[in-house]
Amino acid sequence: MSHTCMDEYDPNSLTVEQAHELIDRIVEPVAGTERVYLRQALDRVLAHDIPSPFDVPPHRNSAMDGYAVRANDLPLGGSAMLQVVGESFAGHPYAGTVGERECVRIMTGAVVPAGADTVIMQEHVTRTGETISIESGHSGGDNVRQPGEDVKAGDAVLRAGRRLNAADIGLLASFGIAEIDVARRPVVAFFSTGDELKGIGTALGEGDIYDSNRYTIHALLERLPVEIRDMGVIPDDPGAVEAAFTEASRHADVVITSGGVSVGDADYVKQTLDALGKVDFWKIAMKPGRPLAFGRLGDAVFFGLPGNPVSVMATFVLFARPALIKRAGATHVAPLTLTATSVARLKKRPGRQDYQRGILSQGEDGPVVDTTGLQGSHVLSGMSRANCFIVLPRESGDIEAGNPVEVIPFAGLF
Ligand code: AMP
Ligand code: MG
Repeated sequence: MSHTCMDEYDPNSLTVEQAHELIDRIVEPVAGTERVYLRQALDRVLAHDIPSPFDVPPHRNSAMDGYAVRANDLPLGGSAMLQVVGESFAGHPYAGTVGERECVRIMTGAVVPAGADTVIMQEHVTRTGETISIESGHSGGDNVRQPGEDVKAGDAVLRAGRRLNAADIGLLASFGIAEIDVARRPVVAFFSTGDELKGIGTALGEGDIYDSNRYTIHALLERLPVEIRDMGVIPDDPGAVEAAFTEASRHADVVITSGGVSVGDADYVKQTLDALGKVDFWKIAMKPGRPLAFGRLGDAVFFGLPGNPVSVMATFVLFARPALIKRAGATHVAPLTLTATSVARLKKRPGRQDYQRGILSQGEDGPVVDTTGLQGSHVLSGMSRANCFIVLPRESGDIEAGNPVEVIPFAGLF
C-alpha cells in the first residue's frame, strides 16, 4: 500500500453507515408539545395521529357539471329522453327524489340527489327546454364521488411524526380541524470557531476570511422544525471555547459548531467536548468531512462539524439533518438516491466514501451527471453550482466517463 493509500484508510474511522446507526441509537426526540393554529402548522411535526372525524367527502357528490340520472334510465342503444325536474348546486342540494325518466341539473361538488346514482356530463346530452336526450354508451355510477372515497371516518392518514406540508394542511382543514398539537421545536445553538473568522460588515485583515459557515448553517437550519440560536464566532482559545460550550448546553437541545475539530494545534472542540461532555466518535471514512465530532453535552446532542465550508454542508446534510429531524419528533425519510450516467471522468482514491459535487440533468436515455470540477472541501462555489452529491463507494477508484454512479439530489434537502 502506498503512503497516500494508507492515508485514506484510517482504521479509527467509522463508515458512513456505522455513523448513521450510532447517531440514530443516541438521538431521542425532545419532550413537549404545543398547540398551534392550522395556519401556523406548516413544517411542524404532528404530536399525535389525527383520525378523520368523518368521511371525506362527507356526502355523495358530482365530479362534473351535468345531469344526475338513474342508471336504469340509461339507454342500451339509441337514445333516451329524460325530464329535468330540478337542480342541485354546490351548497344547495336538491330536496326531492329523482324518479323514473327524470333527471336533475347538477354542478361539480353538488350532492347527488336521492334516486339518482349517475352523472352525465353536460357535453354528452342535448337539452331542449326541460328535456334532455342521452345517447347510449354511459355506465351506471359514472362521475359520482362516494362518501369517504378520499378518507374514511376514523382513518389516521396523518400520523404522529409527520412533518406537515401544504397537502396535509388542506387535509386537516377538510377534517374541520382548526388547531393541532405539534412537537416542541428543539433549540439548536451553533457557533463558529476560528481566529481568522470575521463577521460580515467588518474589514478583513491579513489572513482573515469572512465567517460563511454560520450563514450556511443558519440557512440549513431554517429548513428544519427547530428553534435557532446563533452564538457568533468563538476564538481559538480553550477558555473561550469552554465558556461557549457551557453557555450552549444551558439552553440547547442540539449544539452545532464548525471548525476546530481536526488535530491542529488550535483545534479545541474535541478536547472541550471530552472534558465537558462525551465524545462518541470523531472520524468518518468519507470525503469531504472526515473529522466530525459527535457526542453529548449535558442533555444536548453535539455535532462538531469540520471547518471547510463544503464539509460543513456534507456532514450537516448527511448526519446533523437526520438527527435534527429525529430530535424534532419527526420521521426521517432517507434522501432519494438515483443512478445517473457520469459524463465526466471522476477522480477517486479508495478508502473513503466520496460525496462529490455534481450537476444532474435529464439526458436522452435517462439522468446524466457532470462534475462541478475542482472537488476541494473549500470550494463553496462548486457546492453552489451543484444540484446533487455523486456518491462513490469507499473501495471505488477512478470512475471512467460513461459509467453509472449513484447520486443524491439536493432537492428538498436544503
Ligand atoms: P479548521 O477545521 O478550524 O481547521 O478549519 C478548516 C478550514 O475551514 C480552514 O481553512 C478555515 O479557515 C475554514 N473555516 C473554518 N471555519 C469557517 C467558517 N466559519 N467560515 C468559513 N471558513 C471556515
Ligand atoms: Mg480553525
